[in-house]
Amino acid sequence: MSLISIIIPIYDEEENIYPLYEEIKIITPPAFEVIWVDDGSTDDSLKKIAAISASDDRVKCISLSRNFGHQAALLAGLRFAKGESIIIMDGDFQHPPSLIPLFLEKLSAGYDIVSGKRTTTENISYLKKTSSRFYYKLINFLSDTHIEENTADFRAFNRKVLNVILQFDEKEIFLRGIFSWIGFKKNIVNYKSPERKFGYSKYSSAKMFRLGVKGVLSFSFKPLRISLVIGTIISIVAFIFAINAVIAYLSGHTVPGWTSLIIAVMMFGGIQLLFLGLIGEYIASLFTEIKNRPLYIIDQTINISE
Ligand code: UDP
Ligand code: MG
Repeated sequence: MSLISIIIPIYDEEENIYPLYEEIKIITPPAFEVIWVDDGSTDDSLKKIAAISASDDRVKCISLSRNFGHQAALLAGLRFAKGESIIIMDGDFQHPPSLIPLFLEKLSAGYDIVSGKRTTTENISYLKKTSSRFYYKLINFLSDTHIEENTADFRAFNRKVLNVILQFDEKEIFLRGIFSWIGFKKNIVNYKSPERKFGYSKYSSAKMFRLGVKGVLSFSFKPLRISLVIGTIISIVAFIFAINAVIAYLSGHTVPGWTSLIIAVMMFGGIQLLFLGLIGEYIASLFTEIKNRPLYIIDQTINISE
């Protein structure tokens, strides 16, 4: 029986840990390892994991030195996965563990990557739902890599795929984009996402927004090209306007024109700042990559030998 690695990043999920472990134990074939990645939790998450891991050495933990974010935590877990099949999932029951057998079945059937696709989420706010739908439309318009809507980081894949993922050395990593970009034989499993069992969402709107921007920037240069096109159009219009203004001046038809002037100044000022900010974002990502700092820092590990 080949080993299954389950990777669960957690940030203050103390109430979810026991129930999740119990459910995984029932559902998954016995040859598994659970790698919890404690992403700088401030509650008793780490203690809870340590307690379980004392009696079950399939339960492992990597504790990061502070909160590095969900994507970094996932990657930290992936680096230590020993299994032939790997599963990544959230630690709040929103990625139902009951799907694990189906994921594994599909891997055995020859798929390399099986992604969970959320069809409905109970009690998700209207704002989150709409912004998410808009976001996937936007990123698929902007990027050459198609990212399937509502496939978050609930996935199973084989060792071949893991080895590819581990070669990526990007700091601003957007895993769902990478999984799409690398190719391989893929399959999608639809699921209804239940409400969070305990605790509250750690993805604030600001964090969500950052992840969104990261996703767009790391997968597309189209925003820059769009700004170039808009800039060109505006320049042409401005040129025609300038000729018109000179003619008006020469024929003595100059009018007060405060309104058109103020609108033009504000509009062009706004567009310029917007595109400067956009370029700034690309430079910032470049800066992050060039500094080449570690994506995460490990404080301690439990039941991990290396
Ligand atoms: N998470 C993490 N680090 C963070 C934020 C979240 O490890 O900085 C974990 C969190 O504990 C959970 C998973 O990532 O296991 C998904 O986060 P959450 O459920 O809060 O996001 P949501 O489902 O609300 O989008
Ligand atoms: Mg959640």
